[in-house]
This record gives sequence, C-alpha cells and structure tokens, in this order.
Amino acid sequence: MQSVNPKNNQVIAQYDELTEPEIELAVEQSHQAFLEWRTSTFEARAAILKRAADELEQRKSELAKLMADEMGKPLAEGVSEVEKCAWVCRYYAEHGAQQLADKPIKTEFSVSKISFQPIGCVFAVMPWNYPFWQVFRFAAPTLMAGNTALLKHAGNVSGCALEIASIFAAAGLPEHCFSTLLIGQKAAKAVIENPLVRAVTLTGSTGAGKSVAATAGGVLKKCVLELGGSDAYLVLADANVDQAVEKCAQSRLLNGGQSCISAKRFLVHESLVADFTSKLLAYFDQQVLGDPLDDATTIGPMARSDLRDELHDQVLRSIDAGAECLLGGQIPDREGAYYPPTILSSVTPGMPAFDEELFGPVAAIISVKSTEQAVQWANQSNFGLGGAIFSADIEQAERIATQQIDAGACFVNDFVKSDPRLPFGGVKDSGYGRELREFGIHEFVNIKSVCVQ
Ligand code: NAP
Repeated sequence: MQSVNPKNNQVIAQYDELTEPEIELAVEQSHQAFLEWRTSTFEARAAILKRAADELEQRKSELAKLMADEMGKPLAEGVSEVEKCAWVCRYYAEHGAQQLADKPIKTEFSVSKISFQPIGCVFAVMPWNYPFWQVFRFAAPTLMAGNTALLKHAGNVSGCALEIASIFAAAGLPEHCFSTLLIGQKAAKAVIENPLVRAVTLTGSTGAGKSVAATAGGVLKKCVLELGGSDAYLVLADANVDQAVEKCAQSRLLNGGQSCISAKRFLVHESLVADFTSKLLAYFDQQVLGDPLDDATTIGPMARSDLRDELHDQVLRSIDAGAECLLGGQIPDREGAYYPPTILSSVTPGMPAFDEELFGPVAAIISVKSTEQAVQWANQSNFGLGGAIFSADIEQAERIATQQIDAGACFVNDFVKSDPRLPFGGVKDSGYGRELREFGIHEFVNIKSVCVQ
C-alpha cells in the first residue's frame, strides 16, 4: 500500500498489507478486548475520550501536515478538522452516559426498562476526504458504548490511519480496543464475514456501500452507510444573492470540493441567474490553487490523479451534453493532481453535472422557473444527503426544508455542516442509518428490553 503526495505524485511511504493470519489475529484480539472493555464504567471511557481530545489538540499542526501530504488538504482546513475530532470526543464523553442510561418504562412488571448494551467488535471502512473526522465521528460513540473498533481506512491515507490508533493508545485506551488494519477491499470482505465482527459502518461512495452492504447482508450483520451526495442548493426568487453566493461557494470549495455534503447543484431562480453567476465567478476567480503547505493556498491538489481525471471526464461529458463552461474546465499544465475551480452553467437533467456526484471544485448552475421546479429538480436525484434553501421568506423556506426536500439534512440560508449535536446521514443512494447525537451512539448497541415480574 502506498501513500502518494498528490501535489507532486511522489511516493511518501509504503506499507505492507496484513496477511490473512494477521487479520484473523487482530479480529480475535479485538473480540477479547471487547470482553473486558464492555465491563468498564462510563466514567473511565469518558476520561479516555477526553484525553484523546487533548492529544488531538496538542498534535493538530503535525496531523494537518500529514493530511496535506497524503491527500492534499490545505493546512488550515486540516487544523479545523482535527479540532472537530476533539469536539466529537468531548461531546460523547459528556453526553454518552446519559444517552446510554437505562430508560425505565411503566408496565405491569415490577421492573421494566430499556437497556443499551454494547454488541462487540465493529468494523469501519472509511474514506480519505476527511481522514480524521470520518473515523472519530464513528469511533467516539462506538467506544463510549463499550464496543471495540477495527478500521480499514482508504488505501491512500495509511499514515493517518496509523496515527489515529496511536492517539487512542496515548489516551490510555486499552490495547486492541481500537486497531487499524492495513488491508485492501478483498480482505475487508473476509473481516465482515468473520463471526467475531458484529457490525459494519462504511463512509464512501454508493458503489462501495452496495458492495459492503451485500456482504454484510449475506451474513446478517447490521450496517450503517454514509454515502455520496449531490446536494441541491435552491436560490429562490427572493433570496439575498450576496449571501447565497458566499455560502454556496464556500460549501462547494471546502476541501477542494471533495466533501459528501458539498453544495453540488445550484438551482437558481431565472430572475437571479445572471447576478448569481457573475458573483460566483468573482468568488471562484479569487481562489488560490497551490501547495497545501502554503498559507496562501485555498485549494490544494485533489487527493489522487485518477480522481481528478474522473472529475474532468464528467466536466467534458457535461459540456458535450450542452453545459457552458464559464471558468476552469482544463487540467493545469503542472505536476500533481490539480484541478481548477470550475463553473458550468446551463446545466439540465440528463447531464453528468446534474445526475452524478461531482467530487471536486466544480459548480453546476441550473436555471429554474419557479420554486416548484426547484423543489422537483432538487429531488430528481438518486442521492439524498443534504440541501439548502436561500430565501427571504424564512417560514416558507423552513417548511420546504422540513417537508419537501428528500434529504437527511436541509439548512436555510446557510450551508450544511455536520455537528455532533445533530444527527447526520442520508436517504436514497446516500445511505441509511445515522451518525452523531444519540442516534449515532444507538446504531451499534443492543436495545434490550428487561422486565422483572
Ligand atoms: P470509496 O472509493 O468508496 O472508498 C471509501 C472506502 O471504501 C475506502 O476505504 C475504500 O477502500 C473502501 N471500498 C471501496 N470499495 C469497496 C468494496 N467493494 N469493499 C470494501 N471496501 C471498499 O470512496 P472515496 O473515493 O474514498 O470517497 C469519496 C466518496 O465518499 C464520495 O462519494 C463521497 O460523497 C463519499 N462520502 C460520504 C460521506 C458521508 O458521510 N455520507 C462522507 C465522506 C465521503 P480502498 O481505498 O482500499 O479502495
């Protein structure tokens, strides 16, 4: 397994994949660790999560540098990501015990209650785009619930995967409660099928989700799937265009556009399209594409050259189908996996920029004639992860966000962000199950009814 720096395609490090016996041993050790860990108190687990948060904060600059090297994230964004990991550790340290406390229920029994018991070793398959956040978002509640965790990270961020294990070790988590397995997709299947592994969570593409869910279904194991998105941002006729442009552009360009909840399709009322487009152009034009270690850089290289080439192909196919390229759209003449901020306008259903997920810094502007058409086209997607509505009529926007947009999250006059205090997940091809808040910690527990006559 290789980590390749996407700014210059140089190999940073090579790792040997674990062998079959090594993987089996790791699963066995994780199971044995579970038998002890499940008996620990909430106080003890919370103390370890708080120490993990301290560790993350102390090491945030170094960890941000590692992300920049392995997947091209600009340093400032890397630091924010590590801080957010500390936040989710502290959130579950503070709230986990109460979220998992027995719930007494009134019945004819002398005691009847709901109890939340850990289930065992949970296997996580994770993506490279937020290499720390995606893992901590799963690991903090999982460990707090008394489960143990096995991580198969994306093949290009093995350095991050190993550092995550070292952070938990430094925080005092008992050995084998969290283990990184350096393995590929084939070995992942065997881990899912191992009887000692009790559940699976995957964050990644819809294709990976279908494959992992099929394997898990074959052995009747619970899955949580956090998959792709093609979030629609509706700019209604009464929207404040300056505000809408700022939020849409920020969301589209964060992490070089490689975020599941990036704004991907801009459904703009026809009366505002000209104004919205010229302001979006100005915003995109100011971006600095460059070395992620340089403080001036706002957009680093994409994580891998093959992903950049796939994105470029989607852009070209959209242009062939009638989209107009107003900015970017060409692979820069420099080494590395760079792709420039790109704006496509006149996008319509049937084009890749409408129908597929564009995982990079490419905005698709879609003109709509009415609010009804905006809602209909927002929902005309296989995905259903997030979405946003920009409008001066807050009441109507909230009603549309709540009742009419088929997505796991919809924000009004702001872009979608994940937050430990709010559940996160999708509908349709964006997956199922929820992470964060009590919903996340309840995914991998045995919700048990206990009655005493
Ligand atoms: P990906 O190619 O699906 O990879 C994600 C992880 O799944 C990697 O560890 C990958 O391993 C593994 N994987 C892929 N196919 C597999 C299979 N058949 N069996 C077992 N494991 C498999 O996705 P990505 O390119 O890293 O990430 C981008 C995608 O993730 C986008 O679609 C994005 O929207 C989505 N995403 C969703 C969320 C969310 O919360 N909903 C968050 C972030 C990203 P290898 O690296 O070894 O191939």
